[in-house]
Amino acid sequence: MSARVTFRPHHFLCALGFQGKGYSDRFTANMAGIVAQLRGPGGDAIEIEVTFQADHICAPCPHRRGMGCAKSEQISALDTRHAAALELRDGDCLSWGEAQARIRAHVPPGALNELCAGCQWLALGLCEAGLRDLHDRRA
Ligand code: SF4
Repeated sequence: MSARVTFRPHHFLCALGFQGKGYSDRFTANMAGIVAQLRGPGGDAIEIEVTFQADHICAPCPHRRGMGCAKSEQISALDTRHAAALELRDGDCLSWGEAQARIRAHVPPGALNELCAGCQWLALGLCEAGLRDLHDRRA
């Protein structure tokens, strides 16, 4: 992965909770590689640029259409809610460490039911577990 990765707003929390589920084998392998870098040594220093278009996680997604998405209505709604919660604007740059601090400050355990409404992975509870783990690590 290059020094800077691009994330659309809702992918910060997706990366936090990722446990190997994805839309296709290629999607999952790509996301696993990105998440491994973030969780590995020095991962907190990795710079992430915010975009409201297809990002590095979207790249091999079967739903991607150019820089857009076949499920754009649902994805835009997720991005809007997550951007508001994390105070993210298009083109912002922040480290993964800063992103986690922002999640701790603004997204309490239990918040994903509302924040991630409509996402097919929500009911699995993996993302909520990742969020709780982030809060517990600081405690
Ligand atoms: S529930 Fe969906 S949108 Fe929310 S963090 Fe998990 S994968 Fe991302």
